[in-house]
Amino acid sequence: MFVSECLDVNRDGHLTIGGCDTVELVRRYGTPLYVMDETQIREHCRAFVQSIKENYDGHGRVLFASKAFCCKEMCRIVESEDMGLDVVSGGELYTALSAGFPADRIYFHGNNKTDLEIETALEAGIARIIVDNFPELETINRIAGTMGKKADIMFRIKPGIDAHTHSFIRTGQIDSKFGVALETGEAMQIVKRALELENVNLCGLHCHIGSQILDVDPFEHAAEVMLKFIADIKTETGFTVRELNLGGGFGIKYLESDNPVAYSEYMNRVARVVKARAQEYGVDLPYILIEPGRSIVGSAGITLYTVGAVKTIPDIRTYVSVDGGMCDNPRYILYSSDYDVLCANKANEPRDFKVTVAGKCCESGDLIQENTPIQRVEHGDILAVLSTGAYNYSMSSNYNRIPRPPVVMVCRGESRVIVKGETFEDLVRNDV
Ligand SMILES: *Cc1c(COP(=O)(O)O)cnc(C)c1O
Repeated sequence: MFVSECLDVNRDGHLTIGGCDTVELVRRYGTPLYVMDETQIREHCRAFVQSIKENYDGHGRVLFASKAFCCKEMCRIVESEDMGLDVVSGGELYTALSAGFPADRIYFHGNNKTDLEIETALEAGIARIIVDNFPELETINRIAGTMGKKADIMFRIKPGIDAHTHSFIRTGQIDSKFGVALETGEAMQIVKRALELENVNLCGLHCHIGSQILDVDPFEHAAEVMLKFIADIKTETGFTVRELNLGGGFGIKYLESDNPVAYSEYMNRVARVVKARAQEYGVDLPYILIEPGRSIVGSAGITLYTVGAVKTIPDIRTYVSVDGGMCDNPRYILYSSDYDVLCANKANEPRDFKVTVAGKCCESGDLIQENTPIQRVEHGDILAVLSTGAYNYSMSSNYNRIPRPPVVMVCRGESRVIVKGETFEDLVRNDV
């Protein structure tokens, strides 16, 4: 009935998440409110971890791409599930280290790392820096040299795969700001350069072909291309690439009509490709890394709002305005993202009211969803937007000086705040 297993409807006709009544949650914590279900998050973590055990003899590691949802409690959950963590900025690295996340399970990505970020990462002793380009390689070599360290690195490769997803979140093709291209020979060149440098230790290769990919073929294709490259490197330089990071991008269910592949299926099929090609090319089986972000947290989260004005423009449309918007969920204005929306306190009533859900920000494009069927709502009702666990809180802003909502974690009927809501005082804290 719902896009996520953690959701249900109770006897009062209220939407529940992780066994908690959403109307009760709103009474206790107010709106707007992000709610995440811990059980669901952990199930997703375990599905990926298990899939590497089952299909690849555990010769690999699952990294959570923290940009999807980054806060200390999430880092602790990932740590306790025995996974690693991707970070893409000094701020994400700081969050992980503040949460006590083990540095030797942290992987640092990004197409334009600053010297300070590189220094901090090396100082902390993180697992790998994923190097994006030539100047960055030279910089890392220089900084590591000054610090008397050797940096463990991987290269971000553009495998030339066109994954069928939104162009803003497609990253494997040659025209992308991320990484070095295979087709042009750039990737081979940078590998050779790394082998000449004193203060870097080339451990592996990385690719990430995009996000919200609902199909396994592009991942198999990427694995094929990367294995071929590993074989080419061995032939041309004699060097054995030990680690292969195949990125994230596994799709989730936003709408009932979305049909994501079971998470175990990716490793099942990709592992087969990796094993077959490794054998064919006579190269060692690489240690595999995968980096799910959205698929770990996306469907485990919802956002709750209170309905304010309901405005019907005759023969045009009805706007239902809520007390949040692009400030807590910029995905509709960015990508016209699909979401399932319903009235949390009337969850059993028919959804026969076609509305546009609008935010409270001063932008006409500040919408959550257009022409979406919901229950007959009025001022004071509670709206739930589903599958907002990824790239909502992490992409939120203070536009219009709207404080960020709190994040509440629910688990088997209990709830706790894991990120406090911002206050007006927080908004002026850095003003001078
Ligand atoms: C964003 C990103 C991910 C995670 O992508 P999802 O679509 O959230 O799974 C993984 N790896 C890298 C390098 C990324 O940039």
